[in-house]
Amino acid sequence: MTAFHESRSLPSLDASPADRVAISSRTPLLWANPALAAGPVHEARVEGRTISLVDVQGARDRFARFAPLLATTFPDLAGTAGVIESPLRAVPDLQAGLGLAPEHGALWIKADHLLPVAGSIKARGGFHEVLEHAERVAHREGLIDAEGSLDALGTPAARAVFARHTVAVGSTGNLGLAIGVMAAALGFRAVVHMSADAKAWKKTRLRLRGVEVVEHAGDYAEACAAGRRAVAADARSHFVDDERSLSLLLGYAAAVPHLRQQFEAAGRRVDAEHPLFVYLPCGVGGAPAGIAFALKLLFGPAVHCVFLEPVASPCFLLGMMAPPGPAPDVYALGLDNRTEADGLAVPRASEPALEVMRPLLAAAGTVRDDTLFAHLQLAFDTEGLRVEPSAAAGFGGPQLLLGSEAGQAYLARHRLHAHLPQATHLAWTTGGLFVPEAEYQGFLARAPQDA
Ligand SMILES: *Cc1c(COP(=O)(O)O)cnc(C)c1O
Repeated sequence: MTAFHESRSLPSLDASPADRVAISSRTPLLWANPALAAGPVHEARVEGRTISLVDVQGARDRFARFAPLLATTFPDLAGTAGVIESPLRAVPDLQAGLGLAPEHGALWIKADHLLPVAGSIKARGGFHEVLEHAERVAHREGLIDAEGSLDALGTPAARAVFARHTVAVGSTGNLGLAIGVMAAALGFRAVVHMSADAKAWKKTRLRLRGVEVVEHAGDYAEACAAGRRAVAADARSHFVDDERSLSLLLGYAAAVPHLRQQFEAAGRRVDAEHPLFVYLPCGVGGAPAGIAFALKLLFGPAVHCVFLEPVASPCFLLGMMAPPGPAPDVYALGLDNRTEADGLAVPRASEPALEVMRPLLAAAGTVRDDTLFAHLQLAFDTEGLRVEPSAAAGFGGPQLLLGSEAGQAYLARHRLHAHLPQATHLAWTTGGLFVPEAEYQGFLARAPQDA
């Protein structure tokens, strides 16, 4: 499955010998970011551009402009008038099951595993980029009138125009699902390049919607490279580049203003005396970086963003430890990138995501697949949550933070111990809605029985 990877010299990493050993031996660890900046955040530099709340609001406005069209395009969105959002909720029984004591704060989830149409967090970034591209094509082709109304986009004439354009993407599964479904629904020709990790049901689901699925024997980075090459020569093709895209990042970021309203509606405060710890499953890094960026814009130093990765694929951790520039891949550390968390099976992190997160990330941690399955089962048994393995990665976060030396040192350094009783621990559950029943039963069967 994993293609041949030539041996190369070890990358230079700013890691302690103990951390290096933990990474290579697939032992879970928490690493606190020494470059975390203090104080409020107003912008980020990424690929020579500056992005700020204006750009996040721009992404929100785009979703709002498209809502009427989405409501008529997808039956699942008729009930919400085209709004694609997920619940925020407390999960006290899961908290008890995880052994998180109430004097250390309250566990909540942001339930993106319930996001309609895509069934994962990719409904945010993935949909946003397809919508932005559709607007661009529509402008170029004269489908949008002077008032900027998108009413014409659902018409057969508009779909015929879109059908002459291709949207392509490389994916381990969920991004392909989101891009493919949205692009095809608007009328585009949609092509998804899938890595070897992608689950069969995700390919079937796409093919049923008229999406072309190209299967690759290699890993995620290779599927992306193949997709990029395939569209490079074609002016009517757009490649959604998960390793580079700012549009994806901002689509994810757009989640946060609504999240803030949800916290307010729930009467849950977030400030210096009420810290918010957010645990984000991380693959290439675009989704967690987009969300973390907006979290830091809106909550500043009161929010602490922790990324979680499988022990076999800690690409973002390595990227943060490495000097700026091309990110190292996990194979260089002797890891194989083999994990059941297919959404996180990524060998090399996105450079723009790393660039955004260098001053914003609180910590990065790693989780074993066994733990993912144990927590997946626990979430189902205690709260009836049906999440996929990748989405269970965040549940390991509080234990890593509170139970590790690095985590305790972080809490001490930021004088957080006194505020823990009023803290919120938010696990972002990133996918699961469309996992077929048989597949889900297989996940439950993988949970270690002594856990
Ligand atoms: C894509 C995905 C992630 C992580 O997003 P990245 O942008 O790849 O870091 C996490 N969980 C699930 C279920 C996903 O599909």
